[in-house]
Amino acid sequence: MWRVTHNYKIRNEMMRDAMKLWRDLEKETGEELLVQFPLLTMGSVDNEDFKLVAEQYPDATLLTPEEITTKFPALKNIPSDYKGMINEDCGIVRARKALDVVSKLAQDKYGAKLLFNTKVTNTTKNQVTTEDGTTYTGKHVVIAAGAYSNDFDEKKPSKRREIEYIVFDDPSDMPKGIIEFTNDGNEFYGMLDGDNLDRYKMGEFFQRTIASMAQYFRTRLPDKFDRIKYVHPCYITMIDSGEFQYKTDEKGVHFAYGFSGTGFKFLPLHGKIVYDGLINKFDQRFVPTKFRAKM
Ligand SMILES: Cc1cc2nc3c(=O)[nH]c(=O)nc-3n(C[C@H](O)[C@H](O)[C@H](O)COP(=O)(O)OP(=O)(O)OC[C@H]3O[C@@H](n4cnc5c(N)ncnc54)[C@H](O)[C@@H]3O)c2cc1C
Repeated sequence: MWRVTHNYKIRNEMMRDAMKLWRDLEKETGEELLVQFPLLTMGSVDNEDFKLVAEQYPDATLLTPEEITTKFPALKNIPSDYKGMINEDCGIVRARKALDVVSKLAQDKYGAKLLFNTKVTNTTKNQVTTEDGTTYTGKHVVIAAGAYSNDFDEKKPSKRREIEYIVFDDPSDMPKGIIEFTNDGNEFYGMLDGDNLDRYKMGEFFQRTIASMAQYFRTRLPDKFDRIKYVHPCYITMIDSGEFQYKTDEKGVHFAYGFSGTGFKFLPLHGKIVYDGLINKFDQRFVPTKFRAKM
């Protein structure tokens, strides 16, 4: 899901930068990569995260719990202290298509050779060695190994966390995208599945157990509980501050990781930050100081 409703203003600014780059990529390839739809953000009026989002949109109409359920009848038992806000500037990235498009572009336009199912075991400033002992040499090495990036970073700042998302097969009466900030500090999020718009994905950002997700369904989405098709476990990488990691280490190896379950929508911006900001150092505009990795 992409959105400009992060409770973190700088993420929204980065999203707007990324949007321009996604649109350029769409123009260049003729493929639709972003689908736009409204997102419902809801939470208690006293919830700090909800307040941080809402204060960025002072002119937005805040919906009452009754108005939310009338508009989206699948949502039940909304607490009386909740408000909802709808933001039109959100949607999903068609992730599989986006990966296909950038892989093709990398090969056809920039002459990249892609290796799949090949484990990198060692790197230096300009060399990569794979597990069969082959060494590849280039001008620069960039490590973007997601949840496994710590294997290459001597400082090991991040933690790998497993999260699950739940997929159900009837998105009727749902908002096309939803973020709910709960009173106990959790964040549930859901959206149409970009690979299959007849399906819906729900996840819990600060997941405790799969049981808490089941409880959420029973309370908030009782009619969807029986429509659950599968649960998909996967890994994300977090660092304590929640900040993305873009850096060049003492040996000259570049890194981009720590995207905390929110990084895919910034894909072309990550590339720009690494190429223009870290490697060539000619354009630092897109490297927000706050996210610049501390060396
Ligand atoms: C359940 C879930 C939901 C998410 N929802 C969203 C969302 O709604 N919006 C959003 O923007 N983001 C979302 N994200 C986050 C997004 O998927 C990640 O931020 C993004 O994929 C990170 O990209 P990456 O390239 O850093 O890492 P990855 O996508 O994890 O890619 C790293 C790659 O490195 C490879 N690798 C690792 N170690 C080695 C090695 N030794 N040798 C060779 N290759 C190696 C891995 O196999 C992998 O292919 C979600 C993530 C999860 C898990």
